[in-house]
Amino acid sequence: MSKRFQRRIEDFVCENCGVKVQGNGYTNHCPACLWSKHVDINPGDRANSCGGLMEPVGAYFKSQKWRLKHRCQKCGEEKIIKIAKEDNFGIIKNILQSKVW
Ligand SMILES: [Zn+2]
Ligand SMILES: [Zn+2]
Repeated sequence: MSKRFQRRIEDFVCENCGVKVQGNGYTNHCPACLWSKHVDINPGDRANSCGGLMEPVGAYFKSQKWRLKHRCQKCGEEKIIKIAKEDNFGIIKNILQSKVW
């Protein structure tokens, strides 16, 4: 496990769909719509002051796990995250069908 990873448990309200998300300390993306917020430089550090909403723009399967590609709507930075088992897989299917990247 990376030393740079800091575990924090925090609940938040999704700024895209309004769902209340119970934090598990590992993820800050919304399990319902899969949007996230640009707050980390390294996962969990909350050291990025951008704060833009991150749109899920792509997904792929690698090493037995689904990964999701996020793009920040504010600064354009792209990040790859792991998809958790509680995430809405229907959204991932929609992304795969509608986006070419
Ligand atoms: Zn959401
Ligand atoms: Zn950003």
